Amino acid sequence: MTVADPPPQSVAGPRSEPSGSDYLPQPGAPGPHKDRQPVKRCTKCGIEKPRTEFNKHPKLKDGLRPSCRECDRRSQRARYARKGEEVRTKNRENYHRNVEAMRERVRRYVQENQAAMRAYQMRYHAANAERKNAYGREYRKQNPDLVKASRHARRVREVAAEGTFTAGEWRTLCDSYGRACLCCGKVEPEIKLSPDHVVPLSRGGSNDISNIQPLCLSCNNLKRANTIDFRPQGGK
Ligand SMILES: [Zn+2]
Ligand SMILES: [Zn+2]
Repeated sequence: MTVADPPPQSVAGPRSEPSGSDYLPQPGAPGPHKDRQPVKRCTKCGIEKPRTEFNKHPKLKDGLRPSCRECDRRSQRARYARKGEEVRTKNRENYHRNVEAMRERVRRYVQENQAAMRAYQMRYHAANAERKNAYGREYRKQNPDLVKASRHARRVREVAAEGTFTAGEWRTLCDSYGRACLCCGKVEPEIKLSPDHVVPLSRGGSNDISNIQPLCLSCNNLKRANTIDFRPQGGK
């Protein structure tokens, strides 16, 4: 770049949001910060101050607010003093309205998509069963001590957990679902059903029949310590 070449006059027109590279100095180019100086004059108090004394404003040309932090703070305080409780109440109301609206959207989404979400989980588990089972077998072979330790931990949790279910309750539960795995849908005797804790014991789930769902061994293994309720309407 030569000194004789002044940068072109500022370009008008729509400017996209500043991206990371916009902040890099571009020699001779009329970038957003071609005039970046270590100091900037506040439009309110008129004092020239270091750029660090200005709040950021990414949408403005030089990325900073036109007035300095001190002036911004002062006008904020003045606004609060003038409007007082009115401003605070409005801010609070906005916040709660937004939070409520967001919660409501999530609730509605879950409600409307429950069937699809469950179908997706089942497809996913079925599609990956082979691979994950093979991995599990290999892992157990390589880590017999870890396997022993985790089985022991599980027995301890089972003993400590709330609730208990009888063999009869378990049989009735399996019968009520046609002796099918609630995850992959395969039916006995093709598979062997085992009781799965909907909320895992390791996450504080109970050992009561209301927290049990019949899954085949491979689906049960895949689910691991996740909370996935495969029961229609959550078993209710
Ligand atoms: Zn100022
Ligand atoms: Zn299954």
